[in-house]
Amino acid sequence: MGQIVLLPGKERSAMKRHPWLFAGSVGRLEGRARAGDTVTVLADDGRFLGRGAYSPESQIRVRFWSFDEAESIDDVFFKRRIAQAVASRHALPELRGQEGLRLIHAESDGLPGVIADQYGDTVVVQLTSAGADKWRKAIVNALVQVTGCTRVYERSDSDVRGLEGLEPTVGWLYGEAPVAGLAIDEHGVKLAVDVVGGHKTGFYLDQRDNRAWLRSVAAGKDILNCFCYTGGFSLQALAGDARSVLSIDSSGPALTQARANLALNPQLPVERAEWLDADVFQALRDFRKAGRTFDLIVLDPPKFAPSAAHADRAARAYKDINLLGFRLLRPGGLLMSYSCSGGVGVELFQKIVASAALDAGRSARIVRRLAGAADHPVALNFPEGEYLKGLLVQVD
Ligand code: SAH
Repeated sequence: MGQIVLLPGKERSAMKRHPWLFAGSVGRLEGRARAGDTVTVLADDGRFLGRGAYSPESQIRVRFWSFDEAESIDDVFFKRRIAQAVASRHALPELRGQEGLRLIHAESDGLPGVIADQYGDTVVVQLTSAGADKWRKAIVNALVQVTGCTRVYERSDSDVRGLEGLEPTVGWLYGEAPVAGLAIDEHGVKLAVDVVGGHKTGFYLDQRDNRAWLRSVAAGKDILNCFCYTGGFSLQALAGDARSVLSIDSSGPALTQARANLALNPQLPVERAEWLDADVFQALRDFRKAGRTFDLIVLDPPKFAPSAAHADRAARAYKDINLLGFRLLRPGGLLMSYSCSGGVGVELFQKIVASAALDAGRSARIVRRLAGAADHPVALNFPEGEYLKGLLVQVD
């Protein structure tokens, strides 16, 4: 096994169990290692720091699998980590019986580069690092054994694979494509999940609790759902007896799926739903000109800042949509505002939303902090992860 010896004084981050080791900390590689191979990482004085996956093309040169010298990285390791992750979901009462569930949340489950989402009897994996890619077979075997699922689909087509020198890889790894497609039940609403053509692994499971909350307050409200994707928030709002739900997305296929999802739920009032294929930044300006207002607005944009380097530009985009959102709210109205950018922390996000309210000339207060669901845990040793953060704000 190859060994990475760090430069003097560069061991601090590994000692804090940060899962990433950057190229600038590396002194030398002893022995041989190719992309994805497991290497032992040593401090400059020879102390053991951990074992991780080597990635020669990435600035993140090693992703740690383990900080325990007694733990070897093999099939048994992946089975153990995966079983642990799945058991932690089943132990939480609110996650029991969910048909759509994140089983593995990468660094938060000690498995950098590995995402696994379950939709009924299908598991979708996304492998984004050289190490995860290398251990594909062990990961898939463990998922099948631990969950008893009948199908595994790989959706490793995320852009970040390019930074690791990896090609996009998609396809059925176990079992065959379901003839009738896939659908999950979320809080009594049926949602089709397109694991092959949808975003990410097919659906945004992290918003599950927030969609339930929207449903609980929707009655009688005129609701604007920005960045609606396949209509998750929209359908819950309708289920909660909203007076009207206007949903915007710039993706035609997402809107087609959203309409189809509504049709899967004949109990919901289709006449109260309006779908708009538009750019949210432009649509909000148009509503402002037209004098259109709402009782509740959801802003759940895609990540504007993949890393801290993009934080400035992202901050301007968040400020823009939040400012416009505040201007469209009726007195007493509610804003559910989110960011999933790793490069924008909770505090910065709150500052942005506060300054948007100020510039919009609205007095407002945070009623509640909103987070991702419990199957998307936040690793304390990895605060810069792409975790969902949100604020529920009420204006006067
Ligand atoms: N709220 C959704 C997930 C949103 S994902 C849910 O609960 O499922 C972000 C969505 O924003 C994607 O569907 C993407 O197509 C859309 N999007 C990205 N940029 C956009 C823009 N400028 N205007 C409108 N929609 C946009």
